[in-house]
Amino acid sequence: MADCLFCKIAAGEIPVERIYENNDVLAFPDINPVAPVHILIIPKKHYATSIDLSEEAPELCAAMLKASTEVARFQGIDKSGFRLILNTNADGGQEIFHMHMHLLGGEYIGRLRGR
Ligand code: AMP
Repeated sequence: MADCLFCKIAAGEIPVERIYENNDVLAFPDINPVAPVHILIIPKKHYATSIDLSEEAPELCAAMLKASTEVARFQGIDKSGFRLILNTNADGGQEIFHMHMHLLGGEYIGRLRGR
């Protein structure tokens, strides 16, 4: 996608710290972290939302989850724990329409609903 920020990052046109990558998936730090570890995991190919990914390339869903395990291990937070967030469409708070997962950790992230 010509005007997609994350496509440009995947293609190397915008430099990022490439924390992890394989043929299908890339992980890099979120530019505006909300936790000590805040990493984005994206499919290199463009899928606008998680809905598109799951319908058009279900095998990549497994690859994304597997990548999150590798990233968490690499960051040394697999045992302490982490949270995966996948915002989808407007009510989900999705701002960038190249599907991505947030991996958050490095401190206690808290529970849903603040409890
Ligand atoms: P979302 O609200 O789920 O679409 O999240 C988009 C995320 O992309 C936000 O957490 C932003 O901080 C992050 N972001 C935006 N631009 C960049 C960039 N150039 N490099 C890394 N992360 C970015």
